[in-house]
Amino acid sequence: MPTTETVQKLIEERDRLQKLIKERDRLQKLIKERDRLQAKVLDLKGANEKLKTELSDLKNDNEMLRDSLRDMCCQFSGWINGGYSTNGLSALEFAFETLDWSDPQICEEAQCDEPKCKKQRTCGIPTDSGYRNVCSEHYIMLMGNIE
Ligand SMILES: [Zn+2]
Repeated sequence: MPTTETVQKLIEERDRLQKLIKERDRLQKLIKERDRLQAKVLDLKGANEKLKTELSDLKNDNEMLRDSLRDMCCQFSGWINGGYSTNGLSALEFAFETLDWSDPQICEEAQCDEPKCKKQRTCGIPTDSGYRNVCSEHYIMLMGNIE
């Protein structure tokens, strides 16, 4: 027959074991939660990488579209005071706005190479001082000098 002291010790040991079981269960839940969160993090990392790729593709597409729009504006705009002008055409006004261009959009690279000439270069001609991109008026003048 166990003594009261032994019974008491066994009860304490049982209580201690029950506490440990509860703690083990709590830790197992935490481990499951950690695993769930780790899987979620992996999913999110994957989604993030996919979004980065999509964003990069969209940036490339956007850059290509802006280049195309810029080329079209250069080709189809009017020319005023050394730059491209919408000439009041609404489609060009919208395109200029999209490109954040002013009207006129001054473009030194498209101006005649002759000093102080702000007309649009339209022709190229080899000269004694090298190849020149000039407006039609200066082209005619330079052609006269060559002949
Ligand atoms: Zn010129």
